[in-house]
Amino acid sequence: MSVLDNATYLDRYARSMIGVFGRPKTVLTRGEGCYVWDADGKRYLDLLAGIAVNALGHGHPALVDAVCTQAASMIHVSNFFATPPQIELAERLLSVAEAPSGSAVFFANSGSEAVEAAVKLSRRTGRTGLVAAEAAFHGRTMGALALTHKPAYREPFAPLVPSVTHVPLNDEAALRAAVGTDTAALFLECIQGEAGVVAADPSYLQLARELTAATGTLLVVDEVQTGVGRTGTWFAFQQAGIVPDAITVAKGLAGGVPIGALLTFGPEVSGLLTAGQHGSTFGGNPLAAAAGLTVLTTIEKDGLLQHATRVGSYLADSVMALGHPLIADVRGAGLLRAIVLNADVAVTVVDRALSAGFITNAPTPDVIRLTPPLVITAAQMDTFVAALPTLLDGLGQGS
Ligand code: PMP
Repeated sequence: MSVLDNATYLDRYARSMIGVFGRPKTVLTRGEGCYVWDADGKRYLDLLAGIAVNALGHGHPALVDAVCTQAASMIHVSNFFATPPQIELAERLLSVAEAPSGSAVFFANSGSEAVEAAVKLSRRTGRTGLVAAEAAFHGRTMGALALTHKPAYREPFAPLVPSVTHVPLNDEAALRAAVGTDTAALFLECIQGEAGVVAADPSYLQLARELTAATGTLLVVDEVQTGVGRTGTWFAFQQAGIVPDAITVAKGLAGGVPIGALLTFGPEVSGLLTAGQHGSTFGGNPLAAAAGLTVLTTIEKDGLLQHATRVGSYLADSVMALGHPLIADVRGAGLLRAIVLNADVAVTVVDRALSAGFITNAPTPDVIRLTPPLVITAAQMDTFVAALPTLLDGLGQGS
C-alpha cells in the first residue's frame, strides 16, 4: 500500500494533467512479473502490458540489471558521439529482421517518431503521395496522424500532411487503384492493433509488395505494435513472406524504456536520408539501447517467440472452448489477441475485468484486446479464462 490512496492521487491527477487521457482507471504503484498493484494495494494480472510494451513483464531481473548498470555508467550522450549499446542494438535489430546487407537503423523515442522518420524518408523519393489503410493507427504527430485513419483523432488538427489516400484493408482492387508512380510510400500494419486486432491477408501483403516494387513506391510496414516477438515471430511481416523497404518499431523493443526505430532495407533506401536531414536528441541513447539489447537477448535466450505462439494459441483455444454465446471469435497471432464479442459490450467487460483484478482494454466496442507480457504463463491465462463467463454474465441482447 502506498502513502496515499487511489482517490487522492486521482484528484491530484485531474487538477494537474492535461485531460487527453480522460480519468485514469486507477493509480498503479508497482509491478512484479505479470502482476501490478494499485495505490489501494489491489493486485491485477496485467494482460495489457502497457499496450504491448512490457515484453518481459515488470521488474525482470535482466532488464533491471541492464538499466541499472547502464545508468550507473552513462545514460545519455549526444548524437555527435556513438556508444557501443546503440551500435550493437542496431546490428541485432537488422539481424533479427533478416534485413539484407546495406540496411540501416535510425533510433527515435516512440512509435510516432519512428513513423514520422519514415514519412520524411518517403519524401526523399521525390514523390509526396502516401497510401495507408482505413482503420490504421500510425501515431499522433502531424505526419503520423495524417496516416492514422480515425476522423476523431484527425479532424481537430486539420490541415495535416497532404496527399494521403486511405484504402479499405484487404481490398485488392482499391490498392491497385491507389498505388501509382506518384506514390512515395504505402504504409501498412500486418495486424491492425488499434482497429481491434484485424489482420491483413498474407496475399494482400504480397500484392502490396508487388505493386510497390512495380511502381517504385516504398513499402513501409508499421511493426510498432506487432514487432519484437509480439505475434510469435520477431516481426509480423516475416509470416507473410515479404521483404519490405522499411519497418517502424517501438513499444516492446526496450521493455518499457522509451525507444523507437526506423529500419531501412538495403543500400538504396538506407541512402535516402543523408547527414543533417533528420535527428533526435534522445534517440538511441545508451540507456534505451542497453534495455533494447537485453529485451532481444532475453527473447532469444528464453525462447519467447515459441512461447508467445504456444500461449497465444492456448488462450484462443481455451476461450473458444468456453462455447459462450457472447464470444464470436478469438483472432490475432501470438500474444496480440482479440476476443471478439457478439455485442458492443466490451467496455463493460473491461471494467468488470478490472474490478475482478485483470487489466485488458477495448479498442473497439466489440473487442477485448489482450497484449500480455511475452513471459505470461498458460496457468496465469487460465485464471482470466476461468473468470470470463462471470465477466460476460447478463450482457448481450438488449444490454
Ligand atoms: N503505430 C502503431 C501500429 C501503433 O500501434 C502505435 C501506438 N499504439 C503507434 C504507431 C504510435 O506509437 P507511440 O504511441 O509510441 O507514438
